[in-house]
Amino acid sequence: MTRPTLPSREEVLPFLDEIWNSRFVTNRGPVHLRFETALATYLDVPYVTVTANATLGCMLALRHLGVTGEVITPAFSFVATAHAASWVGADLVFADIDPETLSIDPQDVERRITPRTRAIFAVHCYANPCDTQALADIAKRHGLALIYDAAHCFAAKDEGGSLLRHGDLSVVSFHATKVFNTLEGGAIISHDLETKQALDRLCNYGIVDENNIESIGLNAKMSEMHAAVGLAQLPHVEHDIARRGQVVQRYWDRLKDMDGIRCVCPPDRPGRNNYAFPILVGPEYALSCMALYERLKAAGIHARRYFHPPLSQLPLYRDLPSADPRGLTCAIEASEQVLCLPLYPDLAPEDQVRILDVICTPWR
Ligand SMILES: *Cc1c(COP(=O)(O)O)cnc(C)c1O
Repeated sequence: MTRPTLPSREEVLPFLDEIWNSRFVTNRGPVHLRFETALATYLDVPYVTVTANATLGCMLALRHLGVTGEVITPAFSFVATAHAASWVGADLVFADIDPETLSIDPQDVERRITPRTRAIFAVHCYANPCDTQALADIAKRHGLALIYDAAHCFAAKDEGGSLLRHGDLSVVSFHATKVFNTLEGGAIISHDLETKQALDRLCNYGIVDENNIESIGLNAKMSEMHAAVGLAQLPHVEHDIARRGQVVQRYWDRLKDMDGIRCVCPPDRPGRNNYAFPILVGPEYALSCMALYERLKAAGIHARRYFHPPLSQLPLYRDLPSADPRGLTCAIEASEQVLCLPLYPDLAPEDQVRILDVICTPWR
């Protein structure tokens, strides 16, 4: 399904020497600071706060913005999105998604606003940009915070630049399954130094200095070792994305005209980062999505039903008023039809042919 890209051990060793010699292993050490600077430059965003992972990053972003009350978030996402909002004590309000991009539907967001709504917590699904203009307009008109779970969006761009520049805050993941990884890790993108510094403190228990603790922070720091993996990997990411692009192109070439299969992330959108290759298995295909998943599995190929089930159908969340399936038809349909195909930079072309041969088998 996926395979993390790693720098060579030789590229990491000089960082390890530095860490071992200084015994500076965590707490915003020199490697961490260089990594944050390098990321801000590479991603072309104003301020970066590196975190231990994106889930903690989302929790701190919501916390920093004082989000309580109701938070509107898509029913179709990874469970970390809903959990992060729950952890800060917010009441989840699920919204439906746009059937084309599978990212949150702004019109449905607007319909679900109440006097208790405090924030929109959107997801650029598979790094497919949300309708950022519409969401910014809605947030502004209703006085809401706008936060993006941009976990998928490393190096992804739209016409105006990095996808990570949108919203009050955006959070990207460096998990092993993402386009760029630090084994575990993430970052919060902010727009002014004051906010960045407040987020830095939130990652470190809210400590300001020896005598002052200003906020109820967490321990969400990234260690020097993780930052070292990031610094060593950063020079490779452009090439990794290009190689992912070749895999995407080969999927597209054979699946684009296939009856009953819709490719959600075609290779023609500029700025894409080739994070994933989701297909929707529709009723015109000979097998159900689940049956195709099983056929692939029988052939030793692990595709991922990402995301299934919809968050609104988890026992944890399905009794919420907003979880009524009648209001979430696109999220539920996507969740029933989606399969993310194996995708990583060094996926061998002959392995990919095997995957495609299963999908293209005339089952009837
Ligand atoms: C991967 C992912 C996360 C979690 O990121 P971590 O760095 O693993 O905490 C959050 N949201 C979405 C949409 C994701 O895909």
